[in-house]
Amino acid sequence: MARYTGPSCKLCRREGKKLFLKGDRCLSDKCAVARRTTVPGQHGAGRKQIKEYGLQHREKMTARRYYGVQEKQFKSYYVKADKTAGVTGENLLTILECRLDNLVYRMGLASSRKEARQLIRHAHFTLNGKKVDIPSIICKVGDVVAVKEKSKGSEKFKALIEASETAVTPKWLEVDQANASAKMIAMPKRDDVDFPFEEQLIVELYSK
Ligand code: SF4
Repeated sequence: MARYTGPSCKLCRREGKKLFLKGDRCLSDKCAVARRTTVPGQHGAGRKQIKEYGLQHREKMTARRYYGVQEKQFKSYYVKADKTAGVTGENLLTILECRLDNLVYRMGLASSRKEARQLIRHAHFTLNGKKVDIPSIICKVGDVVAVKEKSKGSEKFKALIEASETAVTPKWLEVDQANASAKMIAMPKRDDVDFPFEEQLIVELYSK
């Protein structure tokens, strides 16, 4: 299935939650969720209460849209999470947090995961010293993500690096702002995910 290229705010309105897909705009009073509470579409205002399956489906779509992941890839993360020891829902969130595009976003070098994906695809980063252009790579403890030397000198990255200095970074990431790099020093835990997911609903959906 092709990647969604329509308006990001429509996705938030569909889920009825802020998914923080557009950087600074999400924190301003221009946020579409803050201004319009109805679901998009002709019958959006008249939607009825959703049932069990609907709730599970919506929670999955919320997580997919929040992290920008396609269904096939999301399902493969679930299968991996289910095979891993521990709580499946929490394992799933850990895998999603370990995606390279999420790391770049958490470093504060992009205002959204979408922007982070674009920067990675344009090959502005290295992973453990090697050029990387795949946003979906799952990073592990000890991995080092850095802005490529050549990219650091560009006006765009000078501004991004400067803006990242005020970013609040997670404790599982050791960020070296002076060198525009970060080392993953621990696996992200459930408490490190700053979004109120009800991940057990996703597990219930896939385990049917
Ligand atoms: Fe979602 Fe951000 Fe648009 Fe608000 S501004 S609806 S949080 S993408």
